[in-house]
Parts: sequence; structure tokens; C-alpha cells
Amino acid sequence: MKIKKIAIDPGHGGRDPGVVSGNHREKDINLKLAAELFTQLLNTNYDPLLLREGDLNLNLSCRVQKAADWEADLFISLHHNGHNNKSARGTETYHFPSSKIGQQAAKLIQQELTALLSSPDRGIKSNDRFYVLRHTPMPAVLLEPLFVTNKLDQNILLRENYYSRVSLSLIKALNQLNVIL
Ligand SMILES: [Zn+2]
Repeated sequence: MKIKKIAIDPGHGGRDPGVVSGNHREKDINLKLAAELFTQLLNTNYDPLLLREGDLNLNLSCRVQKAADWEADLFISLHHNGHNNKSARGTETYHFPSSKIGQQAAKLIQQELTALLSSPDRGIKSNDRFYVLRHTPMPAVLLEPLFVTNKLDQNILLRENYYSRVSLSLIKALNQLNVIL
């Protein structure tokens, strides 16, 4: 298995809540998903590392450094989207432009997430500005499965099995990635 050590980065934390809409705070949603993904990865022979384990303010360079020191095979940054225009919704996944494996991972993850969530497919996006894509020495992806600011996406988020099903989809994508690498 080429991609076995997975660094999970729950976006934001502590003083930085990320997107806030009503009772929903992105930092909490990201952490909940990260914790579930961590457990599922452990149970499926992957080797996960959780970069933020509680409601902590952890800077981006510290997150990247932790993953680099641990020699992660893949860095997965978990976020949820937001927009002033409350009708904006859908699923998107980012990778660094020159990372072939990052792009392959993003593509597989995006396929699984759009099939699961049935929110509009906003596609995979190449981005050289996000710190955690730019400064990670290993392939990296940044996920934005849904918009916290959109009512329809919120309804999907509130489904009881949201976190477990998204985690399962991510593992399916990782399994596929390991087959093609
Ligand atoms: Zn975010």
C-alpha cells in the first residue's frame, strides 16, 4: 500500500471558528469528521494521524510540520465551505497544481463525495495559494464537501450518518488510489 500514513487536518480551531452560520461552526464540523475518519482509517489498516485533537488554535505551519516529521504519505485537510450568497452550495476538492498524486486523490474523492452527497458537483480545483497544499512535502488534498451557509447543504450535514458515510467514501477513494498507484 503506497498511501498508508494519512495525516488528517481538521481545518480551523480555537479562536478561529472558520465559517459560522447559525449554530453551525465549521471548526466543530471539521473536527467531528476528522475524528470519525481517524477511527475508520484505524479499523481498515491505514495509519492515521490527527493533527488537531481538540478545539485548539494550531497554526498552519505547525500542522504541516507535524505531518512532515511523521512522514505522511497523504495530507487530507478537512474544511466546509461558506459564502455570503446563501444559495451557493455543492462539493469541491482542491489539490496543488503540480501534484499528480494529489490530483488523482482529489478526483477520486470528488467522485465519491458527489455520489454520496448529491449536492452540486463544483469539480476538483487546482490551487497554489492554500498554505497546506503549497507547503506540504507530500501529496495533499483540501476538501469542501458542503456549504455551511446553505440551507439544503445544512440538511445533508445534519443527517445522523453524515460523518460516518463521508469517512467511508474517503476510504473508498483511498483504496482506489492505492490500486492505480
Ligand atoms: Zn475552512
